[in-house]
Amino acid sequence: MAHTSGCAEAQKHKCVCGGCGGLEHGWRGHLRLAVAPPADRAAFRARADAAWSTATRRKRPEPSERGKAAATDTAIADIVDWLAANGRAIEQVEELGTAIAGEAPPLLAPELEAHGRTACMKAMTDHFWCELLACFARVLSDVKEQLDLAPGLVAREILASRQAYKRSLLADTVARAAVHATWEVVQRVSFAARLDDLIRAVRILAVLICKAPEHHAAVARNCLDPLSGEVISTATQERLMQIFPAEWLQETRTTLAS
Ligand SMILES: [Zn+2]
Ligand SMILES: [Zn+2]
Repeated sequence: MAHTSGCAEAQKHKCVCGGCGGLEHGWRGHLRLAVAPPADRAAFRARADAAWSTATRRKRPEPSERGKAAATDTAIADIVDWLAANGRAIEQVEELGTAIAGEAPPLLAPELEAHGRTACMKAMTDHFWCELLACFARVLSDVKEQLDLAPGLVAREILASRQAYKRSLLADTVARAAVHATWEVVQRVSFAARLDDLIRAVRILAVLICKAPEHHAAVARNCLDPLSGEVISTATQERLMQIFPAEWLQETRTTLAS
């Protein structure tokens, strides 16, 4: 079955498009919504809010499937509204999604043919691409954390080197302050912030491409949770806390507690 506009614009949580294997699922439609008139975005949010109210009207120990879907739809409404106010981020997610959807499949075509394209595509609709993106988001943010260790490592090295080569005496604190000042400035040059932008774009794309984030631990943990401070509202974070196990939402918990 070929990929259709129904899959690209999908808002239901059950798409099984074997044409794209889920790689084109939903995200283009949501990006279009981010540049649509505010009334269209408000209608999308209102539908999610209404579904949440209906699903949570009766108190039950476990949220229903419809309630879970409504909570993640509210998170998507937050992402779409945030994108609407951040045009550069729309371009970044679009560029990333277009590049992956356009250029990755031809690169893996020989593997797909060798293992049966139809069977591979069908298996991929089972949260493959969103998982892949969510894993990239986590690994890249780990790399970013390593990057944050850079000034400390540089300071250690420069102090050891000056001592080894008996360079002119300079107080350690001055050398350390110089390293930290340089690092601060380096991070402000125009192209330094790109890793942050990339990580955020990967997270957003993973959420938008996922047909049912409420059933996808990696998307919740690696993407929805870290988006909680900047992109996802407090009200939505509270909904997410009701549908996901607390240990999946470490950052959300911290944000809500502060
Ligand atoms: Zn499709
Ligand atoms: Zn998924």
